[in-house]
Amino acid sequence: MSDQLVAVISAGASGIGLVIAEALCDRGYAPFILDVDANQVVAVCDRFGAHSAVTCDVSDPGQVDAAFKQFWQQHARVDLLVNNAGIAGPQGALETLDVAEWQRTIETDLNSLFYVTRHVIPDMKARREGVIINMSSNAGLSGCPHRSPYVAAKWGSIGLAKTWAMELGPWNIRVNALCPGSVSGPRIDGVIARDAAARDIDPDEIRRVYQRQSSLRQFTDPGDIAAMVCFLAGPAGKNISGQAIALDGHTESLTNWQDP
Ligand code: NAD
Repeated sequence: MSDQLVAVISAGASGIGLVIAEALCDRGYAPFILDVDANQVVAVCDRFGAHSAVTCDVSDPGQVDAAFKQFWQQHARVDLLVNNAGIAGPQGALETLDVAEWQRTIETDLNSLFYVTRHVIPDMKARREGVIINMSSNAGLSGCPHRSPYVAAKWGSIGLAKTWAMELGPWNIRVNALCPGSVSGPRIDGVIARDAAARDIDPDEIRRVYQRQSSLRQFTDPGDIAAMVCFLAGPAGKNISGQAIALDGHTESLTNWQDP
Protein backbone atom coordinates (compact mmCIF):
# COMPACT_ATOMS: atom_id res chain seq x y z
CA MET A 1 0.00 0.00 0.00
CA SER A 2 1.21 3.53 -0.80
CA ASP A 3 2.59 5.46 2.17
CA GLN A 4 1.01 8.68 0.96
CA LEU A 5 -1.59 10.12 3.30
CA VAL A 6 -5.03 10.61 1.74
CA ALA A 7 -7.59 13.24 2.75
CA VAL A 8 -11.23 13.33 1.64
CA ILE A 9 -12.70 16.83 1.74
CA SER A 10 -16.34 17.54 0.99
CA ALA A 11 -17.07 20.87 -0.73
CA GLY A 12 -13.37 21.45 -1.18
CA ALA A 13 -13.34 22.93 -4.67
CA SER A 14 -13.60 26.51 -3.43
CA GLY A 15 -13.91 28.55 -0.25
CA ILE A 16 -12.64 27.22 3.07
CA GLY A 17 -12.44 23.64 1.80
CA LEU A 18 -10.03 24.62 -0.98
CA VAL A 19 -7.77 26.44 1.49
CA ILE A 20 -7.79 23.28 3.63
CA ALA A 21 -6.97 21.13 0.59
CA GLU A 22 -4.02 23.40 -0.29
CA ALA A 23 -2.65 23.22 3.26
CA LEU A 24 -2.98 19.42 3.34
CA CYS A 25 -1.23 19.11 -0.05
CA ASP A 26 1.64 21.15 1.37
CA ARG A 27 1.89 18.55 4.14
CA GLY A 28 2.02 15.64 1.72
CA TYR A 29 -1.61 14.54 1.60
CA ALA A 30 -3.28 13.46 -1.62
CA PRO A 31 -6.65 15.26 -1.59
CA PHE A 32 -9.91 13.78 -2.84
CA ILE A 33 -12.58 16.45 -3.10
CA LEU A 34 -16.32 15.91 -3.47
CA ASP A 35 -17.94 19.08 -4.80
CA VAL A 36 -21.16 19.85 -6.62
CA ASP A 37 -19.59 22.54 -8.84
CA ALA A 38 -18.38 20.68 -11.95
CA ASN A 39 -16.36 23.62 -13.29
CA GLN A 40 -14.50 24.01 -10.00
CA VAL A 41 -13.88 20.25 -9.95
CA VAL A 42 -12.12 20.53 -13.31
CA ALA A 43 -10.02 23.43 -11.98
CA VAL A 44 -9.08 21.40 -8.89
CA CYS A 45 -8.06 18.39 -11.00
CA ASP A 46 -5.87 20.64 -13.13
CA ARG A 47 -4.22 21.88 -9.97
CA PHE A 48 -3.91 18.80 -7.73
CA GLY A 49 -4.00 15.96 -10.25
CA ALA A 50 -6.50 13.98 -12.33
CA HIS A 51 -7.91 11.90 -9.46
CA SER A 52 -8.12 14.67 -6.86
CA ALA A 53 -11.78 15.64 -7.23
CA VAL A 54 -15.14 14.36 -8.37
CA THR A 55 -18.43 16.10 -9.07
CA CYS A 56 -20.81 15.09 -6.29
CA ASP A 57 -23.75 16.61 -4.47
CA VAL A 58 -23.11 15.29 -0.97
CA SER A 59 -26.75 15.83 0.00
CA ASP A 60 -27.62 12.96 -2.37
CA PRO A 61 -26.61 9.59 -0.87
CA GLY A 62 -26.60 7.94 -4.31
CA GLN A 63 -24.07 10.44 -5.64
CA VAL A 64 -21.93 9.98 -2.53
CA ASP A 65 -21.97 6.19 -3.01
CA ALA A 66 -20.85 6.66 -6.65
CA ALA A 67 -18.09 9.09 -5.65
CA PHE A 68 -16.67 6.62 -3.12
CA LYS A 69 -16.85 3.79 -5.65
CA GLN A 70 -14.52 5.93 -7.75
CA PHE A 71 -12.42 6.85 -4.70
CA TRP A 72 -11.75 3.23 -3.76
CA GLN A 73 -10.75 2.41 -7.34
CA GLN A 74 -8.06 5.09 -7.09
CA HIS A 75 -6.97 4.96 -3.44
CA ALA A 76 -6.16 2.22 -0.95
CA ARG A 77 -6.57 4.22 2.26
CA VAL A 78 -8.17 7.26 3.82
CA ASP A 79 -6.41 9.00 6.70
CA LEU A 80 -8.47 12.15 7.10
CA LEU A 81 -12.04 13.15 6.33
CA VAL A 82 -13.09 16.79 6.48
CA ASN A 83 -16.89 17.05 6.39
CA ASN A 84 -16.77 20.62 5.19
CA ALA A 85 -19.93 20.89 3.08
CA GLY A 86 -22.50 23.34 4.32
CA ILE A 87 -24.74 25.93 2.75
CA ALA A 88 -25.83 29.08 4.57
CA GLY A 89 -29.49 28.16 4.18
CA PRO A 90 -32.47 30.52 4.21
CA GLN A 91 -32.43 33.62 6.38
CA GLY A 92 -35.59 35.09 7.83
CA ALA A 93 -38.23 34.87 10.49
CA LEU A 94 -39.13 31.28 11.34
CA GLU A 95 -42.71 31.50 10.08
CA THR A 96 -41.53 32.76 6.68
CA LEU A 97 -38.99 30.00 5.96
CA ASP A 98 -39.64 27.77 2.97
CA VAL A 99 -39.99 24.05 3.74
CA ALA A 100 -37.95 22.97 0.69
CA GLU A 101 -35.11 25.33 1.65
CA TRP A 102 -35.23 24.04 5.23
CA GLN A 103 -34.94 20.47 3.98
CA ARG A 104 -32.11 21.28 1.54
CA THR A 105 -30.11 22.92 4.35
CA ILE A 106 -30.54 19.94 6.69
CA GLU A 107 -29.70 17.51 3.87
CA THR A 108 -26.52 19.40 2.94
CA ASP A 109 -25.28 20.55 6.34
CA LEU A 110 -26.25 17.56 8.49
CA ASN A 111 -27.40 14.46 6.63
CA SER A 112 -24.42 14.60 4.24
CA LEU A 113 -22.11 13.96 7.19
CA PHE A 114 -23.70 10.55 7.60
CA TYR A 115 -23.79 9.84 3.86
CA VAL A 116 -20.06 10.56 3.54
CA THR A 117 -18.57 9.39 6.85
CA ARG A 118 -19.91 5.84 6.68
CA HIS A 119 -17.70 5.26 3.62
CA VAL A 120 -14.42 5.97 5.43
CA ILE A 121 -15.03 4.03 8.64
CA PRO A 122 -14.24 0.45 7.50
CA ASP A 123 -10.72 1.39 6.30
CA MET A 124 -10.02 3.54 9.36
CA LYS A 125 -11.21 0.76 11.66
CA ALA A 126 -9.13 -1.86 9.81
CA ARG A 127 -5.98 0.27 10.13
CA ARG A 128 -6.97 1.44 13.65
CA GLU A 129 -6.23 5.01 12.72
CA GLY A 130 -8.10 7.99 11.33
CA VAL A 131 -9.16 11.56 11.83
CA ILE A 132 -12.59 13.03 11.08
CA ILE A 133 -13.39 16.73 11.29
CA ASN A 134 -16.92 18.11 11.03
CA MET A 135 -17.13 21.74 9.96
CA SER A 136 -19.65 23.24 12.32
CA SER A 137 -19.86 26.96 13.16
CA ASN A 138 -20.16 29.15 16.20
CA ALA A 139 -23.84 29.02 15.23
CA GLY A 140 -23.55 25.45 16.55
CA LEU A 141 -22.66 26.74 20.00
CA SER A 142 -25.43 29.26 20.56
CA GLY A 143 -28.71 30.43 19.11
CA CYS A 144 -28.71 32.60 16.00
CA PRO A 145 -31.99 34.32 15.12
CA HIS A 146 -33.20 34.06 11.51
CA ARG A 147 -30.89 31.07 10.75
CA SER A 148 -32.96 28.19 12.18
CA PRO A 149 -32.09 25.31 9.80
CA TYR A 150 -28.39 26.26 9.67
CA VAL A 151 -28.21 26.41 13.47
CA ALA A 152 -30.01 23.07 13.83
CA ALA A 153 -27.57 21.41 11.40
CA LYS A 154 -24.48 22.94 13.01
CA TRP A 155 -25.54 21.86 16.53
CA GLY A 156 -26.20 18.45 15.00
CA SER A 157 -22.72 18.23 13.50
CA ILE A 158 -21.21 18.80 16.95
CA GLY A 159 -23.48 16.11 18.38
CA LEU A 160 -22.31 13.72 15.68
CA ALA A 161 -18.64 14.57 16.37
CA LYS A 162 -19.08 13.82 20.07
CA THR A 163 -21.04 10.63 19.39
CA TRP A 164 -18.63 9.35 16.74
CA ALA A 165 -15.67 10.20 18.99
CA MET A 166 -17.14 7.85 21.61
CA GLU A 167 -18.16 5.20 19.10
CA LEU A 168 -14.90 5.16 17.12
CA GLY A 169 -12.33 6.09 19.77
CA PRO A 170 -11.57 2.44 20.61
CA TRP A 171 -10.26 2.13 17.01
CA ASN A 172 -8.02 5.19 17.50
CA ILE A 173 -10.26 7.28 15.28
CA ARG A 174 -10.46 10.88 16.46
CA VAL A 175 -13.47 13.03 15.68
CA ASN A 176 -13.78 16.75 16.36
CA ALA A 177 -15.91 19.68 15.24
CA LEU A 178 -14.58 23.08 14.22
CA CYS A 179 -16.67 26.14 14.94
CA PRO A 180 -15.51 29.17 12.96
CA GLY A 181 -17.18 32.53 13.38
CA SER A 182 -17.79 34.66 10.33
CA VAL A 183 -15.06 33.77 7.85
CA SER A 184 -13.62 36.42 5.55
CA GLY A 185 -14.68 35.78 1.97
CA PRO A 186 -17.54 35.95 -0.52
CA ARG A 187 -19.88 33.73 1.46
CA ILE A 188 -20.07 35.98 4.52
CA ASP A 189 -20.53 38.92 2.17
CA GLY A 190 -23.63 37.14 0.82
CA VAL A 191 -24.91 36.34 4.33
CA ILE A 192 -24.53 40.00 5.29
CA ALA A 193 -26.27 41.18 2.12
CA ARG A 194 -29.24 38.82 2.69
CA ASP A 195 -29.43 39.73 6.38
CA ALA A 196 -29.41 43.42 5.45
CA ALA A 197 -32.20 42.88 2.94
CA ALA A 198 -34.30 40.80 5.38
CA ARG A 199 -33.98 43.43 8.13
CA ASP A 200 -33.90 46.49 5.87
CA ILE A 201 -30.66 47.65 7.50
CA ASP A 202 -27.50 49.03 5.90
CA PRO A 203 -25.07 46.12 5.14
CA ASP A 204 -22.16 48.04 6.70
CA GLU A 205 -24.06 48.19 9.98
CA ILE A 206 -24.70 44.45 9.81
CA ARG A 207 -20.98 43.86 9.17
CA ARG A 208 -20.07 45.92 12.24
CA VAL A 209 -22.57 43.98 14.36
CA TYR A 210 -21.08 40.67 13.18
CA GLN A 211 -17.57 41.89 13.97
CA ARG A 212 -18.63 43.12 17.41
CA GLN A 213 -19.93 39.62 18.20
CA SER A 214 -16.28 38.59 18.49
CA SER A 215 -14.20 39.69 21.48
CA LEU A 216 -11.33 40.20 19.05
CA ARG A 217 -13.58 42.21 16.70
CA GLN A 218 -12.48 40.33 13.62
CA PHE A 219 -13.59 37.68 11.15
CA THR A 220 -11.84 34.31 10.91
CA ASP A 221 -9.14 33.81 8.29
CA PRO A 222 -9.69 30.59 6.23
CA GLY A 223 -5.96 29.88 6.64
CA ASP A 224 -6.43 29.68 10.42
CA ILE A 225 -9.09 26.99 9.93
CA ALA A 226 -6.76 25.05 7.62
CA ALA A 227 -3.97 25.33 10.21
CA MET A 228 -6.27 23.85 12.88
CA VAL A 229 -7.21 20.96 10.56
CA CYS A 230 -3.50 20.22 10.06
CA PHE A 231 -2.85 20.44 13.81
CA LEU A 232 -5.68 18.02 14.65
CA ALA A 233 -4.64 15.62 11.88
CA GLY A 234 -1.00 15.65 12.93
CA PRO A 235 0.80 14.09 15.91
CA ALA A 236 0.04 17.02 18.24
CA GLY A 237 -3.66 16.17 17.93
CA LYS A 238 -3.29 12.55 18.99
CA ASN A 239 -5.20 12.91 22.27
CA ILE A 240 -7.83 15.40 21.11
CA SER A 241 -11.26 13.96 20.29
CA GLY A 242 -14.90 14.76 20.87
CA GLN A 243 -14.26 18.51 21.00
CA ALA A 244 -16.09 21.47 19.49
CA ILE A 245 -13.25 23.91 18.87
CA ALA A 246 -14.25 27.52 18.39
CA LEU A 247 -12.25 29.60 15.91
CA ASP A 248 -14.23 32.77 16.30
CA GLY A 249 -12.17 35.26 18.29
CA HIS A 250 -14.34 34.33 21.31
CA THR A 251 -18.05 34.85 20.73
CA GLU A 252 -20.37 34.57 23.73
CA SER A 253 -23.60 35.05 21.80
CA LEU A 254 -24.85 35.88 18.34
CA THR A 255 -26.66 39.19 18.66
CA ASN A 256 -30.39 39.20 19.19
CA TRP A 257 -31.12 42.22 17.07
CA GLN A 258 -33.98 44.47 17.96
CA ASP A 259 -37.37 44.04 19.64
CA PRO A 260 -40.39 44.46 17.36
P1 NAD B 1 -18.92 28.15 0.23
O1 NAD B 1 -20.32 28.65 0.17
O2 NAD B 1 -17.82 29.07 -0.20
O3 NAD B 1 -18.89 26.80 -0.62
C1 NAD B 1 -17.75 25.99 -0.70
C2 NAD B 1 -18.02 24.86 -1.67
O4 NAD B 1 -19.15 24.10 -1.28
C3 NAD B 1 -18.30 25.28 -3.12
O5 NAD B 1 -17.26 24.78 -3.95
C4 NAD B 1 -19.63 24.60 -3.44
O6 NAD B 1 -19.71 24.13 -4.78
C5 NAD B 1 -19.64 23.45 -2.45
N1 NAD B 1 -20.95 22.87 -2.20
C6 NAD B 1 -22.08 23.51 -1.87
N2 NAD B 1 -23.09 22.62 -1.74
C7 NAD B 1 -22.56 21.40 -1.98
C8 NAD B 1 -23.10 20.09 -2.01
N3 NAD B 1 -24.40 19.84 -1.77
N4 NAD B 1 -22.28 19.05 -2.30
C9 NAD B 1 -20.97 19.27 -2.55
N5 NAD B 1 -20.41 20.49 -2.57
C10 NAD B 1 -21.20 21.54 -2.27
O7 NAD B 1 -18.66 27.65 1.73
P2 NAD B 1 -17.53 28.09 2.79
O8 NAD B 1 -17.78 29.48 3.23
O9 NAD B 1 -16.20 27.69 2.26
O10 NAD B 1 -17.96 27.15 4.04
C11 NAD B 1 -17.44 25.85 4.22
C12 NAD B 1 -17.97 25.31 5.54
O11 NAD B 1 -17.63 26.19 6.62
C13 NAD B 1 -19.50 25.16 5.59
O12 NAD B 1 -19.85 23.99 6.29
C14 NAD B 1 -19.93 26.39 6.36
O13 NAD B 1 -21.18 26.22 6.99
C15 NAD B 1 -18.79 26.51 7.35
N6 NAD B 1 -18.69 27.85 7.92
C16 NAD B 1 -18.53 28.92 7.08
C17 NAD B 1 -18.46 30.21 7.63
C18 NAD B 1 -18.30 31.41 6.75
O14 NAD B 1 -18.40 32.55 7.26
N7 NAD B 1 -18.01 31.25 5.46
C19 NAD B 1 -18.56 30.38 9.03
C20 NAD B 1 -18.70 29.26 9.84
C21 NAD B 1 -18.78 27.99 9.28
